[in-house]
Amino acid sequence: MSVARLADKLALSHLSSKDQFAQLYPPSPAYSHITNGSYHRSSLGSIEERSDSTEEHSMLDQQPLDDVLPQMDIIPSSMSRRPMGSYCLMDFHIHRTLGTGTFGRVHLGEPRHNQRFYAMKVLGKDKVIAMKQVEHTKSERAVLDAVHHPFIVNLWGTFQDSSNLYMVMDFVAGGELFSLLRKSRRFPDPVAKFYAAEVALALHYLHTLNIIYRDLKPENILLASDGHIKITDFGFAKRVEDVTWTLCGTPDYLAPEIITSSPYNKSVDWYALGVLIFEMLAGYPPFYTEDTNPVKLYQKIALGVDTVPFPTALNPLAVDLIKRFMTSDVSERYGNLKHGVNDIFAHGWFAEVRWEKLFRKEITAPYVPKIAGEGDASQFEAYHETPAEYGALAPDPYGHLFPDFEYTWPAVPTL
Ligand code: AMP
Repeated sequence: MSVARLADKLALSHLSSKDQFAQLYPPSPAYSHITNGSYHRSSLGSIEERSDSTEEHSMLDQQPLDDVLPQMDIIPSSMSRRPMGSYCLMDFHIHRTLGTGTFGRVHLGEPRHNQRFYAMKVLGKDKVIAMKQVEHTKSERAVLDAVHHPFIVNLWGTFQDSSNLYMVMDFVAGGELFSLLRKSRRFPDPVAKFYAAEVALALHYLHTLNIIYRDLKPENILLASDGHIKITDFGFAKRVEDVTWTLCGTPDYLAPEIITSSPYNKSVDWYALGVLIFEMLAGYPPFYTEDTNPVKLYQKIALGVDTVPFPTALNPLAVDLIKRFMTSDVSERYGNLKHGVNDIFAHGWFAEVRWEKLFRKEITAPYVPKIAGEGDASQFEAYHETPAEYGALAPDPYGHLFPDFEYTWPAVPTL
């Protein structure tokens, strides 16, 4: 399929109009709107998940970690499932919006009976159905249920009412890395390295569980009150033993094999880390184009990283690592070679990173957000608030599609 036809498929099936896409890429001189503005890039992903191949195999078999480097203690010792709590809408005061997604919004939630604050992701069931996101939503819950890592947001429980699905997560108070990056315009080399290294640890952990994340971008990297990262939004994360095909992700961060509809593997996350490092250091994504037509962006991605002009001020080691992540040839891509993640951990740009200390959060974060106290959401942008009608009784034709989201109140939704 041609890039143009694929671009159409992606843009039109995920956004209600091309104007919406244009809003993501408004024309403006140079990169000023990127560095001045704070618009979020929407994730695209409405094509139902395709089943995976069990016959095709990864590009190269990976050598186990401890064969190559001295064993590092960078995987949480307990990978067992945590029992999820039972929560109910009536347990919470629902406060302001922290962020919005395509299918709903994330609120600050305050339990009626204690002082701890949570982030409550609310997904409208009708929107999930309309956008063909049932499998992705179920997968998001299953993946978050299975993971436990210092740099990944914690899911405490889920429930549903007649109209909505609810996910109760840690409230990560420091705001989005995206906001910090846009305010700073770009990060100095050591700052970008710190965030990239924490992301690398989280991705490596997910990959050891055969989970592809598929939506890495600064909007989905939150900063905790201590300045360390927490990755959120697992709407496209999926267990994949081998390869998958589904077109999903955020345009600027899509690997070429995704936009050309080829089977792809976990290495798309390493490709995206290359894009992230570039964006943190340059202040704009590598294939940025003022052209509002998505085809242009996908064509640039298909042309490959060798056509990208790198700012001359970038550390040559960072440039080298970005290119090794962003190579279109997956048999050459770092993270996907014989030594797996070790090539990344041992790369010169990361030379001074003490991985185990980083994992244990013994390295001080470069920026510690100013948080006034529990429930301070001032690091998040203000959103237009619509009166929440959560918990109202309504016809509920889709509830049975989400059996893992418990009905807690009302226990049996009837009209
Ligand atoms: P999502 O729909 O998961 O992409 O979340 C949309 C936005 O909500 C994110 O970009 C964050 O700004 C915010 N958000 C999501 N999860 C959390 C969380 N656990 N704590 C604080 N804010 C969050």
